[in-house]
Amino acid sequence: TLDPIDGTKGFLRGDQYAIALALLVNGRVQVAALGCPNLNRQLEPEIGGEGALLVAVRGEGTHISNLNTKFFERLRVSACADPAAARLLRSYESGHTSDAGTEAFVAALAIAAEPVKMDSQTKYALLAAGKAEVLLRLLSPKQPNYREKIWDQAAGSLILQEAGGVITDLDGQPLDFTAGRTLARNRGVLATNGVLHAQALRALKRTEDGRRET
Ligand code: AMP
Ligand code: MG
Repeated sequence: TLDPIDGTKGFLRGDQYAIALALLVNGRVQVAALGCPNLNRQLEPEIGGEGALLVAVRGEGTHISNLNTKFFERLRVSACADPAAARLLRSYESGHTSDAGTEAFVAALAIAAEPVKMDSQTKYALLAAGKAEVLLRLLSPKQPNYREKIWDQAAGSLILQEAGGVITDLDGQPLDFTAGRTLARNRGVLATNGVLHAQALRALKRTEDGRRET
């Protein structure tokens, strides 16, 4: 599954976008490649030259290289276990998530820093590189029945898992790539460095229950 330009709106703005390719075998992501042409330039100059290329093979880790060199370095998620110190990534586009829901989640987990808004699966690259701890993809109140497209999540999910991270839907279920073009059996996405996953899921449940009551 290929997303030739993931984060089209970021691409048009001159912000982040990604080229996301994943090999699915019997509904399981086995190999992933994520090209992030603007990653280092705007965010982390020390991890690349002109743009970054991330590659993951199931069981063999996630590696990163500059787009113009062939030297690959292994990536590992952050070890941060303190939610207050966690860095949260969310969609730049409000229409792809819920602003109020994200705010409630930040409060419930007592995250101190403002969420970082970013387009595309580049968010998974940052998680895999230990530059952020939590990625939250809530359903937009305008499109509560939206289901994720597999090409928007497949490459990023393996890039994160092979760096030691955990990814589920908002109910804690593993992403099910066997349902066709969409993740029809999942709702939204929660991705973390692993250490914070259970705590983040609990905070999410509290906020979703609370928001349903009000
Ligand atoms: P992001 O840059 O993380 O916001 O994700 C970009 C992707 O969001 C695009 O490739 C779209 O396929 C996808 N998208 C479009 N509409 C929605 C929606 N209502 N909720 C979530 N994702 C969406
Ligand atoms: Mg896309």
